Order: sequence, then C-alpha cells, then structure tokens
Amino acid sequence: MKTPLLDTKPSVIHDPPHVLESIVHGHPVPAKHFKLDIDHDGIAWLVFDSPKTPVNVWNEETLREFNHNLERVEHDTRVKALVLRSAKERIFVAGADLKAVRCMPHARVNDLIWLGQAVFDRLARLRMPKIAAIHGACMGGGFEVTLACDWRVASDHESTKIGLPETLLGILPAWGGCTRLPRLVGVRKALDLITAGKLLGASAAKHAGLVSHVVAPEHLEMLARRLAREKRPPAPFHFENLFSLLIGRVARKKVLVKTHGLYPSIIKAVDVITHAVRGTVDDGLKLERDAVAELIQNRSTEHLIDLFFKREEANKRPATVGTAIPIHDAAVIGAGVMGGGIAHALASRGVRVLMTDVTNDSLARGMERIHGLVSEATRRRLVSRVQARETLDRVSTAHTPVPLTRQHLVIEAATENMELKRKIFSDLAARVSSDTILATNTSALSVGELAKSVPHPERVIGIHFFNPVHRMPLVEIITLPETSPDVLASAVGFVQKLGKTPVVVKDSPGFLVNRILVPYLMEAVRLHESGVPVKDIDDAMLEFGMPMGPMRLLDEIGLDVAAHVAGTLAAAFPDRFANSNALDQFVAAGRLGKKSGEGFYRYVNDREIPPERPADLPRHESIQNKLALLLSQEAMRCLKEGIAHGAADIDLAMVLGTGYPPFRGGPITFARDAGIIDY
Ligand code: NAD
Repeated sequence: MKTPLLDTKPSVIHDPPHVLESIVHGHPVPAKHFKLDIDHDGIAWLVFDSPKTPVNVWNEETLREFNHNLERVEHDTRVKALVLRSAKERIFVAGADLKAVRCMPHARVNDLIWLGQAVFDRLARLRMPKIAAIHGACMGGGFEVTLACDWRVASDHESTKIGLPETLLGILPAWGGCTRLPRLVGVRKALDLITAGKLLGASAAKHAGLVSHVVAPEHLEMLARRLAREKRPPAPFHFENLFSLLIGRVARKKVLVKTHGLYPSIIKAVDVITHAVRGTVDDGLKLERDAVAELIQNRSTEHLIDLFFKREEANKRPATVGTAIPIHDAAVIGAGVMGGGIAHALASRGVRVLMTDVTNDSLARGMERIHGLVSEATRRRLVSRVQARETLDRVSTAHTPVPLTRQHLVIEAATENMELKRKIFSDLAARVSSDTILATNTSALSVGELAKSVPHPERVIGIHFFNPVHRMPLVEIITLPETSPDVLASAVGFVQKLGKTPVVVKDSPGFLVNRILVPYLMEAVRLHESGVPVKDIDDAMLEFGMPMGPMRLLDEIGLDVAAHVAGTLAAAFPDRFANSNALDQFVAAGRLGKKSGEGFYRYVNDREIPPERPADLPRHESIQNKLALLLSQEAMRCLKEGIAHGAADIDLAMVLGTGYPPFRGGPITFARDAGIIDY
C-alpha cells in the first residue's frame, strides 16, 4: 500500500475469498441474463436482459455470467471492441441487488464486493475499446461497470439517470466507483457527486463529465459502432488530484458541519475517494472494500436500506382495491404558492392543467411561479429546453368559471378557509363530469366536512402536497369511509406518476405528518417560554439530525399558519393539545416568522439572526430527548389509531415530509431502537 491508510485499523479482508476461486475454476454458467453477439465488424454486443423482470441488477449470479462473457470476449480473436447495453425499456443496470444484500451475513457482502471488483477489473483490463451505451437508470454498480469502460455514452431519454447514490444507503461505491470516478472527472466533482449521492439526467451527466456523448435512443447503437472503431481515449489528467488530501480535509470539515458527523458513510467516502486517487487502482479497491466491511456493521446502514425499500414499495404499490383511471387532464383551483407548485408538478409529468383563480393578477403571479420553476430546472439541466417548453405549453389559465368536463381530476388549492372551500366544492360539483375526482390540498381542514358540500362525496379525496412542491417527495392521500375504491386507486396511481411517494391516511385532524409534528413544535415553543434560548433548542435538534430546528421551522411555516394548525388540533384533542399563547402573542405583534422579517429569529438580507444568548446560561441537556420522544409518542398514537396503514408508512412519511433523520429509520423505529417500545 503506497498511500497512508485513513485510520490505523488493519484491513478487514486479507485474502480473496472463495467466490473468486469459483470464478476462475467455476462451474459452467448458463446463459440467462446476457446475450453476446459478435458481428462481422468484430464488435461484441453484450446485452444485459434478466428474464421476467423489468430491471437488471448485479448479484452473484449476474456477475458470474457477466464474467463468463468477458472471458469469451477475451479469448475470441475476432473481437475488436466490446459494447455493453441493456435490453430493458427504462433501466440500464439499477445497481446491486439490495434485497439479496440486505439478507446476507456480512461476510457474504464482503465476498460480493470482492466479486464485483474482480469482474469489473477484468473488464477494465480488456485490451480493446469498451463502450457502455447507457439507456435508462444507470445507478450504483450499474454506473461502476461503465467506469471500467473507455467510453460512456447516454441516451437523452428521461429515464436515463446516472450516478452513485450509495452513501444515501449508508455504504459507499465499492465496485471501483470511489477509485475510478475521481480519475475520470477529478477529485472535487467525484466528492460532490458521491457524497450527495446525486443522480443526473443525461445532459447534466455530460456536463459533469460522466458520459462523453448524449444522443437520441435510436442513435445510441450507431454512435457505439463509431466509437468502437476509434482508438481508446487516453486517461484524463486532473492536476487537482495531486492535492487530493488537502481537498479532502476541506471537504471533510464541510461534511462534518453539514451532517453533524451523523452519516459515517459520507465521511468515509471523502476519505476513500481522496486516498484512492493517489495510489494504484488496486490500492483504491482495497480501501473501498475495507470501508464497506466497516460500514455494513452500522445499524444506521440497515435503517437507510430499509427506508429505501419502504419508499420503493410505496412508489409502486397500487391501492389494495379499486381500479385506477389514467389522468391526463386536471384542473388546479387557486394559483397561489401551492396551486402554482402543483400545476407545475403536473405539467412537468405530462398532465394538461387548467389553473384557475379569482383574479387575473393572481393567475399572472401563479404563471410567474411556474416559469421560475421551469427556468430553474432548465438551468440545472434537470430538463431540456424542449421539455421546458412542453411543460409550459400544458398549462392554461382561467379566472372565470369555465366547464371542467374534460378534466379527470380537480385539485382545490385555494385559501385555507372552510366556508370558501365548501363554496368552491359545491360550485365545482355543477361544472365537472360525472366521474371527475374532486381533491383538496387543505393542510388541516376536515376533508369529510368538505365532502358534505357535494352530491357525490364518494368522489372526494384529499391530496396533500408539501411545500415546496417541486422539492418535497411526500404526498398524503386522505381517504374518507365513503371514498370510492376507484377514486383512491386513481389518486395513488396519479401521485406515483408524478414521481412522488403517496402515503394513504385517514381524515383526522392534522392528518399524519402535521399531527406528529405539532406537539413537537408546541413543546419547543413551551421550552422557549420557560427560558431556553431559541438557538439551544434548534441546535439540539440539528444534532439529533433534523434538517432544521423547530424554532426555525416555525418561522419558515409562518407563526400564523402554525397557530391555526395548532388550534385545529387543540380543538380535536383538548386533553393533549392546547392553543399556544406565546404563538398568539407573536402573531398579534406582527411577528409572523420569516415572511414578516421577524419571528423567533430576525431575518436580515436572507440571514437569520437568533436572539442573544446569555453566555453563562448552562446548556439544557434534555431538550433533544424530550422533543425526539414527543415525535415518537405521537407517531405511536397515530399507529394505534390506524391513521396510516402501518409503522413503515408512518416512518417513511416523517422522513420524507419533515426530513426526520433517515439514518434513525423514522420515529417509530427510533423508539424501538431506544427500547422505549417493543414493536
Ligand atoms: P395562497 O394564499 O398562496 O394561495 C391561495 C390562492 O387561492 C390565492 O391565489 C387566492 O387568490 C386563491 N383563491 C381564493 N379564493 C379562490 C376561489 N374561490 N377560486 C380560486 N382561487 C381562489 O395559499 P397556499 O399557501 O397556496 O395554500 C393553498 C392551500 O394549500 C391551503 O388550503 C393551504 O392550507 C394548503 N397548503 C399550504 C401549504 C403551504 O405551506 N403553503 C402546504 C400544504 C397545503
């Protein structure tokens, strides 16, 4: 080992395990997942196509078969170049088979790491041009195999997403990702991409240097054929890689500040990347193996992987009963913060949207909001110019009552006021067709009450987006006993089509996320009233892993809105919730939070300034326990009351809806880990 190790612990794995033996002297491998064709130009087309599934993943079986094909290519003197492709519609390779990994003993995971490294290394050493023609999701191990190729080219299809998201699962790219990516794009970009687990669309991937060409899917083959005739490109040289340790030290500090040291995989990735780029590739691979062997022992890694599965399931699971109707046309009532955001979310996923409001002026502001979101997405290369144009073309507006018979779904996102919403609903009922779904985006009003204002309450449902809509992945779907199964199934399918995660909940005050959040926020206000400084409360919860402290969050929500939601819950659960006098006083004094320039913090030039903290005041030690416990307790109450389908949905909703620290698994998992509940 030429480079100093990150820590002084000895390497966890010393010798190649038996799986490598089995590769070299292995049993015959049946052709199941790959098809190899060698054409008259001497190009070997190796196509990954696992049977009876829409995805390709790496596991022991696929890696062995891939290796076997590499061996064939190696020994076939006709072959002059190798092109790696996938036959799937939307997936190149989705990464490692995480389901299998999750159930494996740690020693087998280590073996699998060895296996992947050895096979991809064999690919890298093939003395011919190797081209990865990427169409569809190319993630984790899926991207790592392409890093062992000479050329990576991608289709411009919206399903093409490229990156290394392993750190988000508590591990790191260990099939050569941490070693080869900094050699390809430089250590800074590699750090940025791997520590954030970013997935990039084709255009952004090209901009970042992950792929060399982007073409339409139908031109991928021609491009691969052309590159197969070219010389292998020289290895790029990145001057900055000579200073990787220095860059690593700065990156480490930044990560520690941002994550409070709560995500060991990210820190470890910084260390591995910045060291791996200095020695040989073999040295780097060893660092990767050692790091994963250590990381997989963490409980937080299990939580992160479990959450990934919970989310995948929620993103795909149809409603248990009912038939979903496809929704191509929708209307959004109200062009405010939420209405504009919702209309944009729908239009960007191919839904034609009619957005209405009471005045032309509000509509103009709503359209400005949508234009802003589209420009931002274009600037960040999340969408192409053509996609941006198409999104805008799908939005139309009206400020007078128009027939809504073409729309399959209407989402009401008007001002939070029961009387107003009841009136809107009864007007809508007269203008929509007989099977239009009527949805409300209310934060806290009773969906059941609203349903009483229409002749067909079975067509009413809550579809509760979170703010800001383009960033927040969670949508609560609020069902009523009378909601028709088809309406529920359609709402769930629709939210999934938007790329959001639906969690079905009962119509109960605060629904799920706000219900769990409010006691926590109100307790934070009470602590402050009792003399605990604002910053101490926020710091305690930042150290717990929340993305924002409760006092800052209250300022962000708006103290008037928070007081209103707290009031609704206090009326519903008078034994446990109470109106907050402190909040009411803030509101009466015009201190509404960030939007008014002052709440618990003061806001000057986009910076928040906390109130002065007396220097000699001791730090209140129990804040974190107290507040974290409140979140878990209310989550348990919701579980008992059947507000959501189960603990998994509650944990997932809190992570996605509030940023509850994912490495803790969610408030119910946290309580179970802490031994507070036996669930
Ligand atoms: P907003 O004040 O920004 O926008 C409300 C819009 O509704 C305004 O443009 C107003 O002109 C319009 N409106 C009023 N009466 C109307 C009518 N009869 N027909 C059509 N439009 C009408 O409010 P918002 O923050 O966008 O909230 C909208 C809804 O979404 C509320 O029910 C709110 O509780 C809910 N919500 C808000 C958030 C949030 O963080 N802002 C989050 C989730 C849900």
